[in-house]
Amino acid sequence: MNGASGSEPARPAGMAAARRAVGSLAPRERALLPARAAYRRAWMRRGQDITRAMSRSSCLVVAPHPDDETLGCGVAIMRKREAGTQVTVVIVSDGAAAEPAPVPPPELVRLRKEETRRAVSRLGLRPADLRFLDVPDTEVAQHVDQVADQLAALITELQPEQLLIPTSCEGHPDHDATNAAARQAALRAGFTGEVLEYGVWMWTHWPWTRGYGTEGYSARRLLRDPLDRIREVRPLLVGAKGYRSRQAYALAAHGSQVGGALPPSLIAATKTSYELYLEAGALAHLNFGPPADSPSSEAQPPADLPAQPQPPSTDVPAGEQGGRPGWVNGP
Ligand SMILES: [Zn+2]
Repeated sequence: MNGASGSEPARPAGMAAARRAVGSLAPRERALLPARAAYRRAWMRRGQDITRAMSRSSCLVVAPHPDDETLGCGVAIMRKREAGTQVTVVIVSDGAAAEPAPVPPPELVRLRKEETRRAVSRLGLRPADLRFLDVPDTEVAQHVDQVADQLAALITELQPEQLLIPTSCEGHPDHDATNAAARQAALRAGFTGEVLEYGVWMWTHWPWTRGYGTEGYSARRLLRDPLDRIREVRPLLVGAKGYRSRQAYALAAHGSQVGGALPPSLIAATKTSYELYLEAGALAHLNFGPPADSPSSEAQPPADLPAQPQPPSTDVPAGEQGGRPGWVNGP
């Protein structure tokens, strides 16, 4: 996940500002929880149950950080493994920028790998089913081309029937860049299977993603926008009843991350009766643009991909540090 607790040690002033911004989010997050839950339940009622098909499809889970695999896809992974279906999890970044860091970065990387091995074991994976790409945390957007090559090689090696990737509108630069890299990898590998998106950071802004922070608290924004979100896309549902407590047990293995500051809306999304997925690109109309103050010479995506966000100065949702507008000001 690497957001509310993330930072870049080289820029302490920005880090402190990011901590203050994140801290200011908590009351609003809590106030919006009931509305988010109600809208999510309404969205799920429009959904299509894919539980059986999901259990049978071998897959490659692409996670930007250690713990995203459990937060976003924990139920699907457990169901697949119970059905004897092959699952491989690949962790893109090394997780070194998480904050508060209980140990120095090199040791934190080792700790988070060990935590991830324990977590995916609790989800039913074998040690060989877990891969690490070790891209520097917070810098995935600078390595999209390299990550796409590495993921394409994995797709070619493993021949999965399905890719599970973060949504295109997570808002966290590492997550959005991972989406871009995975889609590019699918093209390079000639992948013809199913690509589904899962949400992690999406749940901290959905259903008010469009115009987040750039529009006020009008009745239209608070009431009409969520109805548009519910109508425009049908989510794909994987039954989660009976699996959430084991998912929480797996998440607890990420002990360096779950001690404090996971956003409550994100945690709430791991307690619903279904785990939600989306057809690849279904939320592309909600994608965040690149930050206004980002350099233009580096980290450009491949020419056939839409513009992707630039890396942040700290590993928090980009708008909270001014990278993209609105994460602090909008609902
Ligand atoms: Zn993450």
